[in-house]
Amino acid sequence: MDCTQDILIFLGPPGAGKGSLSRLCVERLGWQQISTGNVLRHHIAQRTELGKAVQEVIDAGKLVSDELVAQLVHDWLTQPVSSTNPVILDGFPRTANQARLFEEFVSRHADRFRVRVIHLAISLDALVERLEHRIVCSDKGCQTVYSLKEGSKLAPQQEGICDLCQNSLIRRADDEIAAVRQRLSLYQTHEQELLEYLQSVNRSIVSVPVDRELLAVFQLLTDKLEEKVL
Ligand code: AMP
Repeated sequence: MDCTQDILIFLGPPGAGKGSLSRLCVERLGWQQISTGNVLRHHIAQRTELGKAVQEVIDAGKLVSDELVAQLVHDWLTQPVSSTNPVILDGFPRTANQARLFEEFVSRHADRFRVRVIHLAISLDALVERLEHRIVCSDKGCQTVYSLKEGSKLAPQQEGICDLCQNSLIRRADDEIAAVRQRLSLYQTHEQELLEYLQSVNRSIVSVPVDRELLAVFQLLTDKLEEKVL
């Protein structure tokens, strides 16, 4: 029996659409997703010890420690397997050091995982605009992303209410303009080093332009993965 599980690292700045694209892959392809940002926000909402420890860092748009997020992801990937469908890593690794910790983890489970990197490419201007218009479901189990931009297909059907679970929609504290700029510049500081590291360990990197509608991005992604043979 082939027990290899695909891991797809969605690599892209805040606002690139990692969450929305992941959700579509989950719904349409049956893939699984772990978003480190969502897991951390869930801890904050539940007021766990971990949540209390990371709240200030997250609200300020800074990064929590590499070891902590790496452990969250490794624990998730080694929990008793309910499905061997592909897993999307959304928001991890974010630094070269996290990638190094992840490579060590993967090499300890050599036969189990096959890792590919999906690089979501978008300009800085488009990103700032997206983040300025972004609102999310306040329910920490849901966290669906919407856009208030005029004419956007991601607009909620009813103003201020989540289409999926009917909870209220809110702005994330770290989507306020000062924190957005902080997060984007932090991301850029790390991205180049991260990509260079992943190339140095011969990870296959598929680049997908995401400056277009979500469904078009999804189609591009699936086409590109098919080309590379899933
Ligand atoms: P996100 O929802 O992916 O934008 O993540 C929201 C926040 O969670 C980030 O700004 C960080 O404070 C924290 N976070 C999420 N993933 C990571 C990660 N891989 N490394 C460090 N901090 C993270």
